Amino acid sequence: MMTTEHFAALSFVARMGTRKKVHAFVRVKPTDNFPHEMIRYGDDNKSIDILLKKDTRRGVVNNQQTDWSFKLDGVLHDASQDLVYETVAKDVVSQALDGYNGTIMCYGQTGAGKTYTMTGATENYKHRGILPRALQQVFRMIEERTTHAITVRVSYLEIYNESLFDLLSTLPYVGPSATPMTIVENPQGVFIKGLSVHLTSQEEDAFSLLFEGETNRVIASHTMNKNSSRSHCIFTIYVESHSRTLSDEKYITSKINLVDLAGSERLGKTGSEGRVLKEATYINKSLSFLEQAIIALGDQKRDHIPFRQCKLTHALKDSLGGNCNMVLVTNIYGEAAQLEETRMVKNLEKELALLKQELAIHDSLANRTLVNYDPMDEVQIAEINSQVRRYLEGTLDEIDIINLRQIQEVFNQFRVVLSQQEQEIESALRRKYTLIDKNDFAAISAVQKAGLADVNGHLVGEPDGQGFGLGVIPFSFKPGKKIKSKKTFKDQLSIPVRKEGASSPLSTKELDISPSKTQLILPPRDGDVKDMRDRETSSTEPFPSDSPKEELRPPRPSTPPSKPVAFEDFKNERGSEINRIFKENKSILNERRKRASETTQRINAIKQEIDTTKEALNVQKALREKQGEYENKGLMIIDEEEFLLILKLKDLKKQYRAEYQDLRDLRAEIQYCQHLVDQCRHRLLTEFDIWYNESFFIPEDLQVALKSGCSIRPGMVPINRVVSLGEDDQDKFSQLQQTMLPEGPESVSFYNAKVKTEQKHNYLKAITGLQQVNKK
Ligand code: ADP
Ligand code: MG
Repeated sequence: MMTTEHFAALSFVARMGTRKKVHAFVRVKPTDNFPHEMIRYGDDNKSIDILLKKDTRRGVVNNQQTDWSFKLDGVLHDASQDLVYETVAKDVVSQALDGYNGTIMCYGQTGAGKTYTMTGATENYKHRGILPRALQQVFRMIEERTTHAITVRVSYLEIYNESLFDLLSTLPYVGPSATPMTIVENPQGVFIKGLSVHLTSQEEDAFSLLFEGETNRVIASHTMNKNSSRSHCIFTIYVESHSRTLSDEKYITSKINLVDLAGSERLGKTGSEGRVLKEATYINKSLSFLEQAIIALGDQKRDHIPFRQCKLTHALKDSLGGNCNMVLVTNIYGEAAQLEETRMVKNLEKELALLKQELAIHDSLANRTLVNYDPMDEVQIAEINSQVRRYLEGTLDEIDIINLRQIQEVFNQFRVVLSQQEQEIESALRRKYTLIDKNDFAAISAVQKAGLADVNGHLVGEPDGQGFGLGVIPFSFKPGKKIKSKKTFKDQLSIPVRKEGASSPLSTKELDISPSKTQLILPPRDGDVKDMRDRETSSTEPFPSDSPKEELRPPRPSTPPSKPVAFEDFKNERGSEINRIFKENKSILNERRKRASETTQRINAIKQEIDTTKEALNVQKALREKQGEYENKGLMIIDEEEFLLILKLKDLKKQYRAEYQDLRDLRAEIQYCQHLVDQCRHRLLTEFDIWYNESFFIPEDLQVALKSGCSIRPGMVPINRVVSLGEDDQDKFSQLQQTMLPEGPESVSFYNAKVKTEQKHNYLKAITGLQQVNKK
C-alpha cells in the first residue's frame, strides 16, 4: 500500500540521514493534488511531517496531530532537474576531482522517479538527469583546470538477481565476456573484473556511452525477460588526475558512482516461485544490506562492516565509507490519497486480519495447508499466466486450486493466453499466405513446375523433398483439410507463400485482379479480415504505447509510391511520434543556436566596446603622462574621467566573462541537442526504410538477383521463401522487431546488421535451392 511504502521509504532515508557521512534528501514526485494538510515540510525544509486527521466527531478542537516526523538534509518539492542537481550532486562531483570518491543513490518505489532523477528524460535536454549533468560538469572542470592532465573513464554495471551485467558490452570493440564478472579487491580499491571501462575524451563520447547503456537496459528487460525495476544500475565515472607542472606529483584517482537502485516496494513472496521469489529475496536483501552497511559505517564502535553480504554493497565498498561523499535521494510519490483513508484502512485491515485468522482455522480443520488470501500482485498474476501456459503446452499436469481469487485469476489468464494465441496464429497465417493473380498463367505454370500445385491447380501440401518450397503449411491448410474442397481452380489459387514482415491485407473483394498484376494477399477468411489486420498491425507496432495503435494500412498498390511521397505518409502515420520528437528536438536545437548566435553578437559588441574603452583609457593615460603625473603619498591621482573609464572597462570585462560562460554552456547544450537530433533523424529514416520495405516490397536487390539468375520471374516464385528466415529465426526476428526497434538507434543498427546478415545467409541458401530445382 502506498502509505506503508511512504513510511518505509521516509524512515529509511531518515535513518540514513542520521549517519554522519550520508546526506539524505527526499524528492517528491509532482502531483496536481498534493495533500498539503497531510504532508508538511519543516520551515527549514529539513523535515517532513505526516499528519493524520483525528476523528472530528469526538469534538477534538485541534484536529491535527503529528503522527510521523522525519529529519533530512532537504526536501525537494516541485524541484526542477537543475535544482536537484545543484542540491544533491554538484559538490560531490566537484570534490571527485580532488580525489574524493562519491556515491549518489536514488531509492524508492517503482515509478516514484528514481530513473527520472538519475538519468532523466533522454529525449529532452531540459529534463536530463544527474548522469548527463555530472558528465558535463566533469568535462567543464577539466577545461578549467588547465594545470592538470585529467582522464575520464566510464562504466555501466547492472546487478540483477545477484548477477553482474555489463550494460556497455554491446559495443563492437567490447563483446560479451567469456567468464562471468567478479568483484575484486586490491589495495587501490574495488574493481569489477570483466566490466568494460571506456576512456572518454569528450562529453559527447560519454553521452553516447550513457545512451548505449540506457538502451541496453531497456533491451535487456525485453530480451532477457528482466524486470528493469528489479535491478540496480551503477554508472561510474572514474577520474584520474595529475599535475602537468610538477612531474613528481602523484596521480589522484577517484570515482563517482551514480546508482539507480531497484524498486524498494516489498515484493510479495507468497505464492510466487522460482525466478520471482529469487528477485524478491535478492532485492529485499540487498537494500537491507545496504542499510546495514551504512549504519555500520556510522557506528564508530563497529570495526567490521558487512560489505560482502551482497553484490551491491561489495561493488560500492570503496565508495560508501571513509572519505567518500554519499548522497541518498529518496523518491516518493506526491499523492497520498490513501493517507486520508489510513484510519479507515487500518480498521479494515484489522477486520481483514481477523477474517484471515478465521479462514486459517477453517483451513486447518479442513486439512488444507497454509493458504494466502491477499489480492494477487502482478508478480503472482504473471506466475499464474506461466502456469496456464505450461498447462496448455502439457508440461504442467494440473493447476492446484488454492482459493477463489486464484481460480478466478486462472480463468482470467486462460482468456489472456487464448486471445494471444489467436493473434499469433492469425499473424502467422498472414505471414505465410499470399495470392498469385489467377490470370497470370506464367506464374501458375511456374508454380506447377516447382511442384507446388498439381495439374488441376490444387495445392500440394508439404513440400517434401523439394529443393525449395513453401515451408510448413499451417494445420488448417494441410492436405485433407478444408483447403482441398471442390472449389474451382480459379477460386482456389491461393498459393501459400511465406511472406516477409508486415503486409497489406486485403479481402478478396478489395482485390483488383487485373492481368499481370501480382498482389500479396491473405487467404480469404470469413468475416475477420479487419480484425486480423488490426491485430497484426498492433503486434508489429514499432512504437511504444503513445503512438496510434490501430493503424489501418491501405491496400498495397501495384506500384509503390515514390520514397518522398511514402515518407510523408509515414511521418503522418507510423512515424508520427518519432517525427514529433524529432521536430521538437530540432526546434530546441534551433532555439539554442539562435541564442548562441545572439550571445556571440553580444560578445563581439562587448569586445568592441572594450577595445574602444581601452583606447580611450590609453589616450587619457598619455594625456596624464604628458601633463605630468600627480602623486599623493605614493598614490597615483587620476581624474574622474579616467576613473569612470576604468570602472567601465572592469564592468565590460565582467559582462564579457559572463556572456562567454553562457556561450560555453550553450555550446554544450547545442552539442547535446545535436546528438539527440541526429539520433532521432537516424531512427526516423531507419524506421521509414523498414516500413517502406515491409509495406511495398520484397527487397529490390533480391528481385534483381533472381531476374538475372533464373528463368522464373521473381514475382511468381515464392520469393518470400528466398528472403524468409527459418521458422525459428522468423520468430526471433519478429521478437527483435517488437522489442528492440522502439528502443533507439543503437538497437536499430544492431537489428539492421543482424537482419542483413540473416537475409544474406538465407538468400544464398535459397539460390542454391533454386539452382537445384533448375537442374531437375
Ligand atoms: P522509477 O525509476 O523510480 O521507477 P521513473 O523515474 O521511471 O520511476 O518515473 C516514472 C514516471 O514518472 C516517468 O514517466 C517519469 O518521467 C515521471 N516522473 C518521475 N519523476 C518526475 C518528476 N519529478 N517530474 C516529472 N515527471 C516525473
Ligand atoms: Mg527506474
